[in-house]
Amino acid sequence: MTYTDEEICTQFGENPSQYEGAVSPPIYQTSLFTFNSFREFTEAQKLERENYVYSRGVNPTVNILERKLAALERGETCKCFSSGMGAISATLHTLLQNGDHVLLINNIYGPTIQLAEYLTKFGISYSFAEESFANWEDQIQDNTKLIYAESPGTMLMKTIDLQAIAETAKAKGITTVIDNTWSTPIFQKPLTLGFDLSIHSLTKYIGGHSDVVGGAVIGDHALVDAIFQYGYQLNGAVLGAHDAYLINRGLRTLPIRLRQHQENALQVIEYLQTKEEVVAIHHPSLETADKPYIKKQMSGFSGLLSFEIKHDDFAIISRFIDALSLFKIGVSWGGYESLVSSPLKDDNKQQLLEQGISPGLIRLSIGLEGATLQINDLEKAFQQLS
Ligand code: PLP
Repeated sequence: MTYTDEEICTQFGENPSQYEGAVSPPIYQTSLFTFNSFREFTEAQKLERENYVYSRGVNPTVNILERKLAALERGETCKCFSSGMGAISATLHTLLQNGDHVLLINNIYGPTIQLAEYLTKFGISYSFAEESFANWEDQIQDNTKLIYAESPGTMLMKTIDLQAIAETAKAKGITTVIDNTWSTPIFQKPLTLGFDLSIHSLTKYIGGHSDVVGGAVIGDHALVDAIFQYGYQLNGAVLGAHDAYLINRGLRTLPIRLRQHQENALQVIEYLQTKEEVVAIHHPSLETADKPYIKKQMSGFSGLLSFEIKHDDFAIISRFIDALSLFKIGVSWGGYESLVSSPLKDDNKQQLLEQGISPGLIRLSIGLEGATLQINDLEKAFQQLS
């Protein structure tokens, strides 16, 4: 039976008759589960992936969220974590071992790169395929065990052809993992394009209200159950029941929120295109003419974008950002509120240039306040530049 994404977000995986008809499932705020007999207990312990024994295993509230996320991604199963980094870390720790190589494709979230660097102390190597994406296959080594991709990528929101990558990797027996946080499974379903695992920071659009941190990995039983057994249970980045409840609540409105984030972002982009000080805008909606695969792999665009202004001086960028008031200054993205940030600090201009990032880059997370208010706020900041 197939369900629409809206059905999955609102009703799928819930069974009110199991909890007194409550339309909002209870929060199973418990660390452990008790048994009627010692035999029942020992039997349950044999399969902690499926039985409620201890909440560093499975928990009913978390399980509702996991069932919904697996269904949305069209995957067999899902495991949730206390953060996106918890999910990424558990995945890499489980799937890689001494002597393996991981190929990172596209612009990857900074702490994920730091994790790859950290894993070198266990004899795991990594390299990048980003600028020279056309020749990415040349970067595959004999010991490449894993391809880890982001699309759209961090900071510049560049896209890559997911089906082409999955096909090449499959032919070579390489496992493919994608950080699908930017699109959410509403706008992109990488498992249907051949990727093995899809990872999310639930902290962003899926939670959607900037009040919770969480992560998830979705894929087939063989991979996710292995991650459960090692990277999850032994590293212990457990999602609490209350946080799972909040994320479930966010999920109910995800499709409708994303449509609004998209609409607002497209209007803000149209406005930015009229500004003489803007030299580049980064959002996959602007790449569709050049990259036909985008239409095949994405059904919409979320509200995280970046743009470059002519100036690269810390004082000028600060003046622009400080002139904004609707856009709050802060990390993270994907919540109801509009946010602004920049990778620029007062001492890292050269470093950014070496990474191919303009010091004049400003990132916006377009929230739900409405495009008119967002554009008016940006206009105030542009006036500061002239
Ligand atoms: N992946 C991406 C693309 C992110 O932007 C982030 C956080 O900003 C993460 C993963 C990590 O998620 P979390 O902060 O939930 O650990």
